[in-house]
Amino acid sequence: MTAFKMEAALNNHIQEEIYSSYLYLSMAAYAHEQGLNGFAHWMKLQSQEEWGHAMKMFEFVIQRGGRVQLKEIKKPPYDFESIPLMMKATFAHEQKVTALLNKLYDDAGKQKDNGTQIMLQWFVAEQVEEEAQISEILQRLKFVADKSSGLLYLDKEMKKRGEK
Ligand code: MG
Repeated sequence: MTAFKMEAALNNHIQEEIYSSYLYLSMAAYAHEQGLNGFAHWMKLQSQEEWGHAMKMFEFVIQRGGRVQLKEIKKPPYDFESIPLMMKATFAHEQKVTALLNKLYDDAGKQKDNGTQIMLQWFVAEQVEEEAQISEILQRLKFVADKSSGLLYLDKEMKKRGEK
């Protein structure tokens, strides 16, 4: 028996958030290898944020009297081919997470699990912000094209994340 209707689905989603954290940490390592410490810094903060998302859902499951059950986390990719491709992969990953959260939100509605739905509103809104942020970076990367001077400039900008 589960404590509340969406318990199993939320447990699955905790895994997705932890995987996101793991994926972005791997991207941080790749960016360091490329000598782009600004991108690495941005990815490390992104990784921490995703860990925070997982914990937010973890705490919610417990508050509802549920039991958190951690799942296996798959190995993230090691090589991202280039910084622009890495950022494209980030955007694609966030779109996937958005779709998962939208489905969770819909399912909570169908199950009349209002408490879960309200909690998920925060996540749905957060995804709008995430996608907007990353798409802005992608747009700037388009101007850079293959010019390494532009990439270095952008790397400096990426380093500023979390300063304000
Ligand atoms: Mg997240």
